[in-house]
Amino acid sequence: MADIIQLLPDHVANQIAAGEVVQRPSSVVKELVENAIDANATSIKLIVKEAGKTQIQVIDNGKGMSETDARLCFERHATSKIRSAEDLFQLQTKGFRGEALASIAAIAHVELKTKLEHTDLGTAIIIEGSEVKSQEVTVTPQGTSISVKNLFFNIPARRNFLKSNTVELRHIIDEFHRVALAHPSIEFVLYHNGSELFNLPKSNYRQRIVNVFGSKINDKLVPVSEDTEIVKITGFVAKPEYSRKTKSEQFFFVNNRFIKSGYLNHAVSAAFEGLLKEGYYPSYFINLEVDPHSIDINIHPTKTEIKFEDEHTLYAIIRSAVKHSLGQFNVAPVLDFDNDTNLDTPYSYKDKQAVAPVIQVDRNYNPFKDSGYKSSVQRLHTAKWESLYVGVAPSPSIEPPDEMAFESEAGNEQLFQTAQEASSSTVFQLQQKYIVSSLKSGLLIIDQHRAHQRILYESFLKNMTVKSAVSQQLLFPLKLHFSTTDIEHLKSLKQELEQSGFVFESFKNESIEISGVPFNVSDSEISIIFERLISDIENEVPEANFSATDLLAKSMAKSLAVKRGQSLTKEEQEHMLNSLFACKEPAVSPANKPTYITIETNNLDKKFI
Ligand code: ADP
Ligand code: MG
Repeated sequence: MADIIQLLPDHVANQIAAGEVVQRPSSVVKELVENAIDANATSIKLIVKEAGKTQIQVIDNGKGMSETDARLCFERHATSKIRSAEDLFQLQTKGFRGEALASIAAIAHVELKTKLEHTDLGTAIIIEGSEVKSQEVTVTPQGTSISVKNLFFNIPARRNFLKSNTVELRHIIDEFHRVALAHPSIEFVLYHNGSELFNLPKSNYRQRIVNVFGSKINDKLVPVSEDTEIVKITGFVAKPEYSRKTKSEQFFFVNNRFIKSGYLNHAVSAAFEGLLKEGYYPSYFINLEVDPHSIDINIHPTKTEIKFEDEHTLYAIIRSAVKHSLGQFNVAPVLDFDNDTNLDTPYSYKDKQAVAPVIQVDRNYNPFKDSGYKSSVQRLHTAKWESLYVGVAPSPSIEPPDEMAFESEAGNEQLFQTAQEASSSTVFQLQQKYIVSSLKSGLLIIDQHRAHQRILYESFLKNMTVKSAVSQQLLFPLKLHFSTTDIEHLKSLKQELEQSGFVFESFKNESIEISGVPFNVSDSEISIIFERLISDIENEVPEANFSATDLLAKSMAKSLAVKRGQSLTKEEQEHMLNSLFACKEPAVSPANKPTYITIETNNLDKKFI
């Protein structure tokens, strides 16, 4: 077969959005996988070691390259995908800039093996820092294999700038998701450090989403479809109750290319208006098919932002299509004013007298029985609660925190009134949010939710670092299902979870089985803890000083702390007060927000002048 790669003439090359292609391992993954798709591969294997820092290899069964092309593909602006500037507006391929392989070969050790169909032998090239080290004839299957080792080997500053393996792998998985979701008819496999993270057989779109995100998403998907002159929409949105605290399941594809668009995202959110709790985001997987002439992909080097000719119309169509789907599947309330309500009354009821409904009350019903609410309050009640503070036991008389003692007029006098006084009259709960107590110098107001977070956080941290966590065995092991990505997130904290008292029977690709939990965790709280943990890991942008232990302790404290709106008994209020001031840093919550404020009597006095 003939050679197909050509160098772009300067005037075309100059029109291509310039910029850095390779920022991190995931950029390499994106470029290599896209090349495999452009080569019409039906099966693509991605092999990654050490989050791509050591090796990234992509093996495809696509059309391969001739000997000349194999050499030429590493040149800048060498591409088989466009010839002229006009081609930029009728792109059918992922790539077109002819820069990816040149950029990658400049900063890594690259090994290429490739063979065309109907030829016996292929070509092997080794290129390091843009220098061709060897070129040979070789035996290799049809298609192309490109292995990229030691990324940024010659730019130490860039190499050091890479984030932890957890973070870099997360970026790789994100890119893998995007491209795998855009091409359900291609088989994809992803290996990391020898273990298979994803094995996605050729399938339809719905099945692909399920294979990527786990079987529990299947019931939650509502199809979206619309066919108009300017766009054809297909795909799915997740029912509102499946909305997440992160935006990690929001996908737009335009002509099979993943894109980011705040504007179009808004169109979907607008369709969900009134259906989502605050802080939750809709999940969606939406494909747009548009005329390639009506978009410009050449505005950004990574090709994830594109310009639409008629964005406003697109917005309106997407919004109405999603709204329609939500309504059709009875997810959104549909009000139909054209309907004559008389017609809805069954015939036999027509002349019947209306009977006033009788309200039956079950006076024994306790809405908090067996609920998470009860258990978290119980935690405050019982001896168990106290056991949390073994080692951090509050001193019998409350010591004033330093800065408060400083504020009080008589430094070494007791800040609080006597313990008896305090328990009999001076602690009370305000609007189920605050615990109020009197100080020698005025008034103390504690935010119950934040204070409890501080208390739990310090206790978890202690458990995890001292490694003496007590765990209680569950009567029946509990199995929780997650997507492979979520499991990867959890895996990165497995050791810390165990140190905090969790015991795992198994830790599989899509599920974990738990047979023991920390002493103060109730059954009903387990899944809440894990859901929150996953979303906290996803939202965390770990820096160099990132501590997994800290993240876990914070996340669990958030999940388990008593909420605002929960009423506490006097005894619980006192416990809270005592335990807070037994903490190392009582003044702030784990998120660094104030846990209490004080109002000096002087200041009160001033108000009464
Ligand atoms: P672009 O994709 O923008 O054309 P690249 O630098 O990514 O630029 O690739 C250069 C050329 O190398 C492509 O145009 C294509 O002809 C060839 N090529 C790259 N990867 C493959 C592959 N996996 N199979 C076949 N050809 C490939
Ligand atoms: Mg390319």
